[in-house]
Amino acid sequence: MPTSHHIPSYLTQHDIGPWGVYLEQIDRVTPYLGSLAPLVETLKRPKLILAVDVPIRRDDGTIAHFEGYRVQHNTARGPGKGGVRFHQSVTLSEVMALSAWMTIKNAAVNVPYGGAKGGIRVDPKTLSRGELERMTRRYTSEIGIIIGPTKDIPAPDVNTNEQIMAWMMDTYSMNAGSTVSGVVTGKPVSLGGSLGRQAATGRGLYVVACEAAVRSGMDIKGARIAIQGFGNVGGVAARLFAEAGAKVVAVQDHAGTVVRESGLDIPALLAYAGERGTVAGFAAADALHDQDAFWSVDCDILVPAALEQQITASNADQIRAKIIVEGANGPTTPAADDILHDKGVLIVPDVIANAGGVTVSYFEWVQDFSSFFWTEEEINQRLARIMREAFGAVWQLAKERKVSLRTAAFIVGCSRVLQAHEMRGLYP
Ligand code: GLU
Repeated sequence: MPTSHHIPSYLTQHDIGPWGVYLEQIDRVTPYLGSLAPLVETLKRPKLILAVDVPIRRDDGTIAHFEGYRVQHNTARGPGKGGVRFHQSVTLSEVMALSAWMTIKNAAVNVPYGGAKGGIRVDPKTLSRGELERMTRRYTSEIGIIIGPTKDIPAPDVNTNEQIMAWMMDTYSMNAGSTVSGVVTGKPVSLGGSLGRQAATGRGLYVVACEAAVRSGMDIKGARIAIQGFGNVGGVAARLFAEAGAKVVAVQDHAGTVVRESGLDIPALLAYAGERGTVAGFAAADALHDQDAFWSVDCDILVPAALEQQITASNADQIRAKIIVEGANGPTTPAADDILHDKGVLIVPDVIANAGGVTVSYFEWVQDFSSFFWTEEEINQRLARIMREAFGAVWQLAKERKVSLRTAAFIVGCSRVLQAHEMRGLYP
């Protein structure tokens, strides 16, 4: 935990949470930033934090209140951009960290955005569809004063999807008095969404995993993969790995873990999880009853694609994978990073590995502005090219500077943001 930092008064030292992880990552990159290093303080303070009360009328007539946030971490390179998360563990610290990781990610893959993130502290499984819609609309209306197609553009994240984006777009548009499709990305294709957006994060992850495997002398065909999280990122990645002939030997989600040494039947598991909402209970697999044992599953590639701070000092030592590809944002703590580095495990950091989603969000936003839509093939090709180039540049820099891929990705991302900041100058 960093101690030398300015800890804002709205986060106590005690509950600094994921924001503390991010601050420590910034500390680690600062010595490599050369003449830009003195400007780094700006990255340690979010530009704008909005906390909102989200009251809704429940179906039984009572009123419930939820805690909502939208944080714009940095807008030096363009409008804020980042998803909205509905989860019972959302905190301000978490949304701050997620918004900052968006700043680094958007700069690392060179899309013309700053970083932002939003969230509501709620377990959406406890809401009816009507309650979910009312909560989404009220939240959108409350953050409507700071979002907009040239200001800050939300998108899906954990437990939010294209239906939520449709409600957000409609609410913003109703308040604006005209249809503003570019205010959110990840919309349904029928409302100006982009082909390929839904699978984009998982697809981008698969592309960089292949790049990392080739450079490590590993064949994807036959490689054993373990995946934590079977949602929009882990599920799509699992499908692409399986289609390429890899063996997905373990999948863990919020309710359970399934393993099969010879490889799980991914199409069947996707169909099962689609119906039940979890992989738990899938018959054509062995259940792993000790959830922590997931980390010691024998595999070549481990994909944490759930929540942050999953790989910590207490389980990093058990990991047997040669490569970790971070589908989630912030899944590995700095202490775990060190342990894994000493063990020789290659980590492809979140800010590159899961950047496929925001990359196709950028394509969606561009298509909305020009009202001209591309084919899925064009989108997937452009996505793969951006992911490969970003990964290649980070790989090269890591070799040159003898640093981890995370530090290299942070060098690229932070330098771009701080150069923009320096050129713009300080207002007034
Ligand atoms: N929520 C995704 C992420 O963490 C996508 C954000 C976006 O498309 O704006 O990168």
